Amino acid sequence: MNKTTDFADIILPLPLAQLFTYSIPEELKADVAIGKRVVVPFGSKKFYTGIVKSIHNTPPTDYSTKEIITCLDESPIINSFQFSFWEWISQYYQCTIGDVFKAALPSGLKLESQTKITVNENFQAQEVLSKTEEQILNVLKHSKDVNISTLNQATGLKNTLPQVKSLLEKGAVSIEEQIINTYKEKKKEFVRLASNFNESDIAAVIDGLKRAKKQQEILHSYLNLSKHYFEENALKVSVTELLKSIDASKGILKSLVEKNILEIYHEKLDRIDLSETETSGLKELNEHQQKAIIETRKQFEEKNCVLLHGVTSSGKTEIYIHLIQEQLQQGKQVLYLLPEIALTTQIINRLRTVFGNKVGIYHSKFNDAERVEIYNNINQNDPENAYQVILGVRSSIFLPFKNLGLVIVDEEHENTYKQFDPAPRYHARDASLYLAHLHKAKTLLGTATPAIETYYNAKTGKYGLVELFQRHQNLEMPEIIIADVKEATRKKQMKSMFSPQLMQMMETCLENKEQIILFQNRRGYSPYLECKSCGWVPHCPNCSVSLTYHRYNNQLVCHYCAHSIHPPTSCEHCGSTEIEDRGFGTEKIEEELTGLFPDARIARMDLDTTRKKMAYEKLIYKFENNELDILVGTQMVSKGLDFDNVSLVGVLNADSMLNYPDYRAYERSFQMMAQVSGRAGRKKKRGKVLIQTYTPEHPIIKNVIENDYVSMYNGQLAERKEYIYPPYYRLINICLKHKNQTLVNQAAAILAKSLHKVFGIRVFGPQSPVINRIQNYHIVNILLKIEKKSSPSKAKWILNQHANHLKSMDQFKSIQVNFDVDPM
Ligand code: ADP
Ligand code: ZN
Ligand code: ZN
Repeated sequence: MNKTTDFADIILPLPLAQLFTYSIPEELKADVAIGKRVVVPFGSKKFYTGIVKSIHNTPPTDYSTKEIITCLDESPIINSFQFSFWEWISQYYQCTIGDVFKAALPSGLKLESQTKITVNENFQAQEVLSKTEEQILNVLKHSKDVNISTLNQATGLKNTLPQVKSLLEKGAVSIEEQIINTYKEKKKEFVRLASNFNESDIAAVIDGLKRAKKQQEILHSYLNLSKHYFEENALKVSVTELLKSIDASKGILKSLVEKNILEIYHEKLDRIDLSETETSGLKELNEHQQKAIIETRKQFEEKNCVLLHGVTSSGKTEIYIHLIQEQLQQGKQVLYLLPEIALTTQIINRLRTVFGNKVGIYHSKFNDAERVEIYNNINQNDPENAYQVILGVRSSIFLPFKNLGLVIVDEEHENTYKQFDPAPRYHARDASLYLAHLHKAKTLLGTATPAIETYYNAKTGKYGLVELFQRHQNLEMPEIIIADVKEATRKKQMKSMFSPQLMQMMETCLENKEQIILFQNRRGYSPYLECKSCGWVPHCPNCSVSLTYHRYNNQLVCHYCAHSIHPPTSCEHCGSTEIEDRGFGTEKIEEELTGLFPDARIARMDLDTTRKKMAYEKLIYKFENNELDILVGTQMVSKGLDFDNVSLVGVLNADSMLNYPDYRAYERSFQMMAQVSGRAGRKKKRGKVLIQTYTPEHPIIKNVIENDYVSMYNGQLAERKEYIYPPYYRLINICLKHKNQTLVNQAAAILAKSLHKVFGIRVFGPQSPVINRIQNYHIVNILLKIEKKSSPSKAKWILNQHANHLKSMDQFKSIQVNFDVDPM
């Protein structure tokens, strides 16, 4: 007999630098295949769901393999595109493939070590069970929610996994059930006649139930409800419906099932509504849009990526829709990325009216089960029933696409495309270029305000560039008016946070029954409290930030660690009871408005008002439907939303954005102001934008007034070159964290010194970030700036070496070292 032992290399959801090899037991050989999930033991106590990366015959040389416990999938759930994509992400963003695995799969498809074990009810032992096995079965029979750790405790054994595994093999217990349980398919129970039932028997059967009146009634009712009960087209009768119809209990139905008269069956219900929706055709493109789409197609012949630089309301979305249609006609999939969940609400409706149920949507407000369902839908092999267009936020780049033809990155300049924490710290726009490359697909980046890097890539010929500077129906760009807050304050003309110009414009708007959007990029009531006599400011005990005051629940909250306390009644330093709030967030604006315009209908859109699942949808719907007059919001209101009746947009404080200590602050401020302005005056008439600032002469404010992206770009480009920033240089941030400040400073100094030996003046720091302590971890950064033309992979390799060397020193073992490639 040929006794080869097969091995599988498994990706585990852990930050491990290598894959682990496991042996495949004989009975699993038929099942285990690349791309399937398996359960494997890890360490002495734990087990995890892993993904089979490869199968081979070479045992590892430095450790003896453990066996795979079970295989979870009938067919692979990770395809070869995804494996290549994961590998690229892990290399480019300097993280482990396990980190990518963790980010890529919805948690409903992952098994944690805490997974429960259940006993199989109808198990009958064919062979003698060991004492521990008996003991385990006993525990399982008598308690609920048992996992490996509880079993270890209950039996007093160090590791019960071998016994559980043996019980699994004997068919006594299952874990598979439990694992899949994290994602329970929604199933509904239906009733039908038992299969051995003949039509001619029916009278006799009913007669036979004479003495069981209630059972007879159920049968009658079933025949009634199903109408054509012996034919193919018998109507479906659900158990609930049937029992309700005659007010019977399930026990009575069960007796009929036992008598082999009726049977119960289950059918899967899709949580996501895939029912047919009415669709209408595409809108005809206007002449400018037509030119743009022809140009886009032409550029795609030569370039893999095209930037569509189109002003707000120029109809970029209409162009996307036409391009999607072309892809679907070729049987290709399209990924449509959006930076913000709020935006998906409006776009999904526009897409559904054209593509009906071919469009799926994927974002973090969905629960796990729903995300698993979408994942599985895309993974299935039946193109008829699978989504062909996926509208989603950043993480949807990890879905199991099989034949992408086009990736659209809408509002490509948005920094929400970048994942900050945890690893992988990827940028969905940049990663999607690689994803598209794997599928030989094209990428379209769309925005009114391109990221400097993107525009640079387009200008230097790496990407195609298509411009669209006319709004649909030649609507004028909004008129931008500046209010000088410094002067108004001096003249004592400010009404709370509103300048006289803004007050007057709001009044006119409300009189005309037009809508207003007010933008302030701070949530909460006020950014901080301050003692009037000594200037003391309450800070978070865990982070180096002041606490934000939230009025609705009267709490001071840390926006970094969520620490919250009641506001102090007296100053901790001088005891004064005069503590005032400083600055203003969206909550305070809302409150002031309510006082100033008691008849206006006002709502607020920020993180605090949109935590619940349908909260965005409700707000947007209300505003669209003219049930609101004023919408106050953070950056959520600035992006891509399309409302017909907004004639005024107010930016309450341009300076807080401009003064932010970051090399992108000017670029961001321009983008934010230009985008939020774009919400004004869409369909009907020219809109107005009022920007309040202390610095009306600021060059960026000038660029915004003139809607002059290119000047802003040229100005920024010069600075980027001078101060060594992207697009001329690539940045990698090395972030060190530890609870002990002295230790982390020492480590950073040593690492910076050793990096300096290799990279010289390209190393900046160690430096303390603006917020240098979060959740009691002290943070120190070292920034590496490398020339665009030099090999980033080599630099990354060196960085890894040095970081590993640091971590190999005993005293620095516990220091966290993270890399952030292309930090935002
Ligand atoms: P953008 O994405 O560039 O901001 P949109 O695609 O949202 O612009 O277009 C702005 C508004 O104009 C939308 O309400 C859209 O339906 C409408 N619109 C744009 N192009 C057309 C067209 N060709 N036919 C009809 N309506 C259009
Ligand atoms: Zn004080
Ligand atoms: Zn905090």
